Amino acid sequence: MNKQSSSLEVNNSGYQSDDKLVLAPWFTTELSDNVRPPWLVQVTNKKSDTQFKQYDPMSYKNIPIDFYQLSFNPTVSNIINFMSQWGFLHAPYPLIDQWSTSSNYVGESLYYWRYHLILFSSWMQLWKFIDKYPQGANSVPDSDDVDIEKRISWSRDYRKIHYKYQFTDAYGTSLDFSTSFDTHTLKENFGPAESISPGSFYFPALFVLKEQVAAVLTKYVHVGIDLHPHQNIRLYPETLLGAIYLHFTLAILGGAEKQALCENTFCKYGRFFIKKRRDQRFCSKMCREQAFYYSSKSKGVVTM
Ligand SMILES: [Zn+2]
Repeated sequence: MNKQSSSLEVNNSGYQSDDKLVLAPWFTTELSDNVRPPWLVQVTNKKSDTQFKQYDPMSYKNIPIDFYQLSFNPTVSNIINFMSQWGFLHAPYPLIDQWSTSSNYVGESLYYWRYHLILFSSWMQLWKFIDKYPQGANSVPDSDDVDIEKRISWSRDYRKIHYKYQFTDAYGTSLDFSTSFDTHTLKENFGPAESISPGSFYFPALFVLKEQVAAVLTKYVHVGIDLHPHQNIRLYPETLLGAIYLHFTLAILGGAEKQALCENTFCKYGRFFIKKRRDQRFCSKMCREQAFYYSSKSKGVVTM
């Protein structure tokens, strides 16, 4: 049996015991609703190891789609598969067992993963709905959509909007999310040309989506400045969750087709970029020149 050192394991009490999974029965001192056993543990992790698998999440724009798909079937093995490819979602907790005082392992709870899968899935559904019925057009929503639309409700006097989403998956993981805001806030956030008629769904839904996605970005994505060779602002996701939401944001803003990978294999800028023109193939002038240099060299055009 070839067991890869990168594989994640969970122990078996009460859960699938196949796939060499070991559920960690440890508890930390900080247990909250979203952070509880069983734990998904990287057994090979030493204290000195980096907590996250070294990866370049921005070069893989399909992460949000894969994560969304995982939400339809969040079994332990499917989550572990995703985890072994991309690492932990956020910052894993140090786990202390009942016989020792020091922490040998870090882990994330299965509940935490499932909770974020449900939450992300709810934003994805909302976005797909908004995308399908722009401006709340006079189209008649189908039954799935009616379900999504029900999440938005207006107060009787149309002065407040409530967003409420409750969901429990087949494993008993439940999400109970709600937020409310007044129509004033809405009007400040959208242009005067965009009118918000009492009872409408479109703008409130868009607002909730923007606010909630922005909250995640603020937490996990950092801003950097590139000085050389081109001056630019760069966004760096610090966690997998940040990368997932950043890709999702880009999709909301410009559609997935605006995202691209720099075709220069030696690109030093993370390769991922947003196209300014449809036919743009490189993230920068430097990459374009470098790529042409190497391709002409390999064709033997540049000979000294
Ligand atoms: Zn590049």
